[in-house]
Amino acid sequence: MRQTLSVDYIIVGQGLAGSALAVHLMKMNKKFVIIDGPTPNSATRVAAGLFNPVTGKNLVKTWLADKIFPYLHTFYPEVEKMTGKKLFYSMPLYRPFVTVEEQNEWMGRSTDETYKDIIDKVITKPHFTGVHDPLGGLLLKQCGFVDTQAFLEGVRNEVSLRNGILDVTFNHQNLVIRDNLVCYDHIEAPYIIFCEGVNVSANPWFDRLPIRSLKGETLTVRCFLEENNFILNRGVYLVPIEDENVYRVGATYNLQDKTPTVTMAGKFELEEKLNELVAAPYEITGQAWGFRPTTVDRRPIMGKHPYYKSLVIFNGLGTKGISLAPYFSQHLIQCLENATPLYKEVDVARYKLLY
Ligand SMILES: Cc1cc2nc3c(=O)[nH]c(=O)nc-3n(C[C@H](O)[C@H](O)[C@H](O)COP(=O)(O)OP(=O)(O)OC[C@H]3O[C@@H](n4cnc5c(N)ncnc54)[C@H](O)[C@@H]3O)c2cc1C
Repeated sequence: MRQTLSVDYIIVGQGLAGSALAVHLMKMNKKFVIIDGPTPNSATRVAAGLFNPVTGKNLVKTWLADKIFPYLHTFYPEVEKMTGKKLFYSMPLYRPFVTVEEQNEWMGRSTDETYKDIIDKVITKPHFTGVHDPLGGLLLKQCGFVDTQAFLEGVRNEVSLRNGILDVTFNHQNLVIRDNLVCYDHIEAPYIIFCEGVNVSANPWFDRLPIRSLKGETLTVRCFLEENNFILNRGVYLVPIEDENVYRVGATYNLQDKTPTVTMAGKFELEEKLNELVAAPYEITGQAWGFRPTTVDRRPIMGKHPYYKSLVIFNGLGTKGISLAPYFSQHLIQCLENATPLYKEVDVARYKLLY
């Protein structure tokens, strides 16, 4: 018979959520195993990896920005050191103005203390060749992108060396739940953390959580802009991902479409918005799709199951996984290791009526 392997944690899923947890656990010298089945179109694999502290219709600082942005600016460079991979690209984001009112609004905000650490410059004249910006635009700090493929690969290599990864689909039926312990195959641990993204719908203990899959499509384009040391964002984003002229353009947001494929409608929508943003010539070289695990209140979901305390969830990263995962993976581990309370807004207990 196979010998039992006792670890501190079993993690199911190695997307952004599972990988960020793994990074913290490796730093703490914890023993853990990741079980990650192959999903080529997982949200993390197809994400453009953009982070930007100013979001939403009203363009305000995103929730907890003053905590989570400084945190991610330390986290990802640490992962680069740990894995020896280049994956973090800090760069300004340029958002052209479309109305004079908007231009005035940002001129006003530029003297506001709240926005001091994120506004780089308010530009009031056309500035970048190849960009539609007749009224200038807003140049934001603390933005950039993460190469999510390099992040996943780097973390996976490191976990394989120090701990273990099983490249299989986790079968929920085979989990044995005992008092303060779970056993899966030959592995036992006090905690199992489910980081399954939209596949949470197949998890019998957490499938009733209101995590909705929000389809997103992106394009890869070769675009001939004179400068490529910034991200463009208005309607769509244009992120310089590889060599000089290759960009990721995204994304669409479609709650209705559940088809696991790219669509012509997605392509047209992105092309239309891209044409409004850039005047420079471009050619489309690729298209991708994926499903984001979103929540109605736009907050992640984490914590212990109300009855089976060894079962833990970390999900609902939605459209902002890159900025939320580093801070909140650490927040969850503090809760499990030191019984630190979770923020009410992210605690799975906010959905207790559903069980
Ligand atoms: C098109 C698109 C563009 C995006 N762009 C951005 C962006 O620019 N910036 C940003 O911040 N966010 C972006 N996002 C959102 C971001 O990708 C998500 O918030 C994040 O990746 C979610 O990570 P996750 O680990 O929860 O889920 P996933 O990335 O889906 O990972 C889940 C993992 O669990 C594994 N798994 C699931 N079930 C099982 C099982 N039973 N057994 C074994 N393994 C299992 C899967 O194989 C997968 O590896 C984008 C998403 C999409 C779809």
